[in-house]
Amino acid sequence: MDYYQILGVDRSATQDDIKRAYRKLARELHPDANPGDAEAESRFKQVAEAYEVLSDAEKRARYDRFGTSANRMGGGADPFAASGLGDLFDAFFSTGARSEAGPQRGADLEVATQLSLDDVVNGVAKEVSVRTAVACDTCEATGAAPGSHALRCDQCGGTGQVRQVRQSILGQMVTTTTCARCSGEGVTISDPCQDCSGEGRRVEEQTYVVDIPPGVDDGATLRLSGRGAVGRRGAGAGDLYVVVQVDRHPTYRRDGDNLLAELHVPMTQAALGANIVFEAIDGEVEVSVPAGSQSGRAFRFRDRGVPKLRGRSRGDLVLALVVDTPTDLTPEQDALLRQIAESRGEPVNDPPDGVLDRLKSKFGN
Ligand SMILES: [Zn+2]
Ligand SMILES: [Zn+2]
Repeated sequence: MDYYQILGVDRSATQDDIKRAYRKLARELHPDANPGDAEAESRFKQVAEAYEVLSDAEKRARYDRFGTSANRMGGGADPFAASGLGDLFDAFFSTGARSEAGPQRGADLEVATQLSLDDVVNGVAKEVSVRTAVACDTCEATGAAPGSHALRCDQCGGTGQVRQVRQSILGQMVTTTTCARCSGEGVTISDPCQDCSGEGRRVEEQTYVVDIPPGVDDGATLRLSGRGAVGRRGAGAGDLYVVVQVDRHPTYRRDGDNLLAELHVPMTQAALGANIVFEAIDGEVEVSVPAGSQSGRAFRFRDRGVPKLRGRSRGDLVLALVVDTPTDLTPEQDALLRQIAESRGEPVNDPPDGVLDRLKSKFGN
């Protein structure tokens, strides 16, 4: 889902453009204007989701960076916040009525976790902490003080909805609205729990251990169903979204499931051939560098890359040869290299003065 496309705006759209596009679409697609039209309803939800992200500078920046999945932002945000739609309905239509009656599920939450490349290769159990809403023990999430009870709402008879019958030129019209007395919950509380002010829940820092599977991508989002904030008075919990961020590795670059790295060998080994031991992320590999190898030559090791998220195979390790020129020649090595150059007819510069003097004194020229 491309949020810009859903709202029909440019990626460079201003906040005003986005707001205007949203209002127009929301009016067109609002369920009240399209009763029973599932297509309109699902588009309406998409539009609301797109607006929720793009109207917030921080969420928008994250979305631009991470793309599709990381759209539920605000791990530190108010866990009591309604999960998206309700607030948007109210903000723009102020009908006071929500399309869904009854207790509303708690908010979805998001938290980021930082992984190393080793974590990605091996998989890891990560602790994440998040400020969330948990059920109140005192009232067992009912919101009613111990010893008291929630009573069935006498306005709506416990259904949470009130039917109104109106005469219009088209005949009798029946509309259903959320019960104002109980806010659609079907119950009223005369003696609210002191510990949670009748909410049936309170804010707490919770720690979860998240099993991160091997092969996960930077920016991927894992969904922990039902680990978000609990709803009011025993309503279900939202989901917890864990956004994975992978640290840069000093040696490796990741290309899909393949790992890329440089293999540095000195000029002599590249010219003459050598077996080189390379410390890979999962143990050593032996690289057989043939005589006469040039910089840029690639050596591929099957199944030594990153495990694939789906399936059991792995990507490859690809080493790119980099031939290093020695910079620390001793006078003897300098002299030997000059002999090679001379025998190949390759003119070279004179050595710096100091070296020449040392050579002269050594060989008594
Ligand atoms: Zn309570
Ligand atoms: Zn009611």
